[in-house]
Amino acid sequence: MSRKTGLVFFPAFDWAITPTHPEREERLLYTRDQLFEEGVMDLPEIVEYKPRNADYKDIARVHFCVPDISAQITEAHLIAAGGTLVLADAFMNKEIDNGFALVRPPGHHSMRVVHGNRGFCNIHNEAIMIEYLRKNYGLQKIAIVDTDVHHGDGTQDIYYHDPDVLFISFHQDGRTLYPGSGFCNELGGPTAYGTTINIPLLPNTTDEGIHYVLDQLVLPLLEEFQPDIIINSAGQDNHYTDPLANMRFTARGYARLNEKLKPDLAVLEGGYAIESALPYVNMGIILAMAGIDYSWVREPDYRPENFRETPEHMAYLKGLVEHLQDAWHNREEMAAAGFPWDEEFFESSRMIYYDTDNIREQQQEKIRLCKRCPGYQVIRSRGLYPSGRIRTIQAIVLHRRACPSCQEEARELYRERIADPEGLDIIYLQDKPQDRYHQFTVSGESELQY
Ligand SMILES: [Zn+2]
Ligand SMILES: [Zn+2]
Ligand SMILES: [Zn+2]
Repeated sequence: MSRKTGLVFFPAFDWAITPTHPEREERLLYTRDQLFEEGVMDLPEIVEYKPRNADYKDIARVHFCVPDISAQITEAHLIAAGGTLVLADAFMNKEIDNGFALVRPPGHHSMRVVHGNRGFCNIHNEAIMIEYLRKNYGLQKIAIVDTDVHHGDGTQDIYYHDPDVLFISFHQDGRTLYPGSGFCNELGGPTAYGTTINIPLLPNTTDEGIHYVLDQLVLPLLEEFQPDIIINSAGQDNHYTDPLANMRFTARGYARLNEKLKPDLAVLEGGYAIESALPYVNMGIILAMAGIDYSWVREPDYRPENFRETPEHMAYLKGLVEHLQDAWHNREEMAAAGFPWDEEFFESSRMIYYDTDNIREQQQEKIRLCKRCPGYQVIRSRGLYPSGRIRTIQAIVLHRRACPSCQEEARELYRERIADPEGLDIIYLQDKPQDRYHQFTVSGESELQY
C-alpha cells in the first residue's frame, strides 16, 4: 500500500566541523542527486517541503544552553531543527502519512545541558520536534528508536526521567565505539525506570542479527508501550562500508527495518560512507516509508550470504534479548526496590566529555521522588572550557505532568536560588506545565524568558 511521505532536505552548506571532516554537506547532496536520478522525487507518493527556522522557545523547551542559546547555535541549527517541525505539522495535519527530515547538523549526542559541541551535535533535533508536538498537538506517549551505530546518549539524557517516553537504542558496543555508553544496565531514572532500553551489539553484527533484535525485542516493546507516535533517529552508520564504525548492515537491511518499524517521523543522524552507502540507504528507507518496492535497491557489491550471523553472535543476541525482556517486564518491581523512596531526592553525579570542543562537564543531579507524579530534576553543572574558564549553572526541569505541590516547590527553588546564587553563573527553570522557560544571569542580574 503506498503512502504519502514528506521529505525535507537541508544540507547546511555553511556548517562543518572542519572542511575535510566526514560530517559535511556532501552527506546529503549525493543522496539528493541519487533520488533525482532514480526518479524518486517525481513519484506521486513523495512530497518535498521547504524547511523553516525553529525559534528560541522551541530550543528552550529542551536545552539549557550555556551561556545562552545564541552562543551554541548557528542559523544552520535553527533550520535543521525547523525542518523537523515542518514535517511534524504536515504529519499532524494529515497532509502526509509519514516523513523523513534529511537535515544536518545532527543532534542525538546533544544532552539537556549544552556547554558546547559533542559528537558533532549542539542541539537535539528530535527532542525539539517531540516537545513541539507535545505542546502544540497534545501528544503524550512517545517512542524513539535510535538506529544509528552510536549510542544516542543525548536522547537518553534528555528523556532519562520521563516515563512517557520509551527510548530504545541499538548501537555498536560502547567498549568499542564513541561515545562509550549505552549498556544494558542504563534503564532510566527512578521515576522512569525501564523506559530507556539499550541494546549494545558486537562489532560486525549483520542484517540477520539486527533483525533478530528488532523482531524479538524492539517491536514487541513498542506494541506493549502503545506510543502516540514513533520517531526514528535514523543514523545510517551501521552500514558495512561506514568509515567511522564496524558493523555489517546493508541498505536493504535498513529499508526492511523501516518497513517493520513504521516510524511516523524519521530524522537523519549519522552515516559517513558518503558516496558508497548513504545514497542507497536513504533511498531504500524513503521507498520503504512510501510503501514502494525497494527490492532493487542494493549496493554494487551486495551478496546476501555475506550478511549472515555466526552461532556465537546469535547466542550473544539471544541472551541479550532475554535479559532486556526481563528488565522491561520487571521494571516496576526493580524501580520500587532499587531507589530510596522514603527520601525526598535521589542524587547522582557524573562527568561528561565534549569531544569536539574539548570541554569537561561535571554534573550533579537530584530527582524529586514524588509518589503522585514524575517530579522535577535539579541539575548542577560545571563546565571547564579549554581556555581555562569555568561556568557553573543550576537548572530545574519541571515535568509536564508534575503535581501542583512539585510545581510549587520547583518554582520556589528557582526564586530562592536567584535570591542566593551560591557562586552560580546562571540559573534556569524549564516550567513545562506553564510552557515558560526562564534563564537568570547572575552577573547582569537579568532574566531571559521564552
Ligand atoms: Zn543508536
Ligand atoms: Zn552515528
Ligand atoms: Zn509531585
